[in-house]
Amino acid sequence: MAGILVYALHDDEGNFNKNSLGAVSEAARLAGELGTEAAAVVIGDVADDKVAALGAHGATKVFRAKNVADGLAQPAVDVMAKVITDGGYDYALFGGGLLGLEIGAGLAARLAGGVTVEVTKVKVDGGSLVAERPILQDSEIADVTFDGGLGVIVGRLNAFEAKESGGSAAIEDIEVELSDFSSKSELVTRGEQRGEAVDIEAADVLIGGGRGLGEAEGFRACEDLAATFPNGAVAATRAVVDSGWYPYAAQIGQTGKTVAPKLYLAVGISGAIQHKVGMASSENIVAINKDENAPIFEFADLGVIGDLNKIVPALTEALKARG
Ligand SMILES: Cc1cc2nc3c(=O)[nH]c(=O)nc-3n(C[C@H](O)[C@H](O)[C@H](O)COP(=O)(O)OP(=O)(O)OC[C@H]3O[C@@H](n4cnc5c(N)ncnc54)[C@H](O)[C@@H]3O)c2cc1C
Repeated sequence: MAGILVYALHDDEGNFNKNSLGAVSEAARLAGELGTEAAAVVIGDVADDKVAALGAHGATKVFRAKNVADGLAQPAVDVMAKVITDGGYDYALFGGGLLGLEIGAGLAARLAGGVTVEVTKVKVDGGSLVAERPILQDSEIADVTFDGGLGVIVGRLNAFEAKESGGSAAIEDIEVELSDFSSKSELVTRGEQRGEAVDIEAADVLIGGGRGLGEAEGFRACEDLAATFPNGAVAATRAVVDSGWYPYAAQIGQTGKTVAPKLYLAVGISGAIQHKVGMASSENIVAINKDENAPIFEFADLGVIGDLNKIVPALTEALKARG
């Protein structure tokens, strides 16, 4: 039966990440509009009660390849290609992230499909899916359609909202013969950033730290400031994540997370478009920057021109004193 197939990534305990659950919810919504069904692929021996989360988010069927190791792209391409070929799926949907990009591209190449990445929204038009993809540094949106064959849509990380619909999915265990080249690499260890206590999406107040902090140690001042709020957390720009100053799990922007806290306090952040797209929906944006021409002042609600090394500790002390 034609429909939408989603790749669902899980951790070693079988918990699906929010990004994958968002993709399942989105596929279920779209499948409803298309009059078809959303299914998911799970790779690895994930217990039934964990797989149930996919049904609860709208998948009606889950294909589980118990004997295939999760975390590498090529085996996932083998599994998804088989399910798509056997079941005649029209679309494959991914929540995003590097693994999703890699599997999506491999799948399109394997099945001669079309692929579009960094998608922020998907809509139904004339019985087909149309993917909205920001272009020209996010200043314009391109509508991408597929000319028959498989359409592979890879979302921007966390672009799709995870919504529980309370349904349940039928689980089908499948055997997949891996291609020779798919068995040539082995996952040695996973980056465990997901295990870190960084939950920037749930925070009411985010202190965003940028290169202006000068060094990794500079983030301590942001953490002290975040700790003065009941639900505060620290976020980061790509520049500092690339420098190894702060974990990727905290990165905001085009290749990071999208957040909308009550208050986003940008400390030593220039306000590049790729950062802006991840935080511009914040209710209130306050920026501290020593450069009065910094682009962040163009969209901040309140701008403080000055040296963060003086302002941030003073602000922290003032907030602490207020209790
Ligand atoms: C394809 C692509 C994807 C990208 N994705 C992302 C993304 O997801 N997220 C992201 O953030 N970026 C992303 N970028 C990078 C982005 O273009 C910027 O380079 C990055 O956001 C800049 O980070 P920054 O503001 O920390 O550093 P900078 O641009 O170097 O800004 C540092 C700021 O600190 C200020 N400053 C310095 N010292 C002080 C001081 N003592 N007191 C006060 N202010 C001070 C400076 O005036 C400056 O404005 C991407 C780029 C590309 C090409």
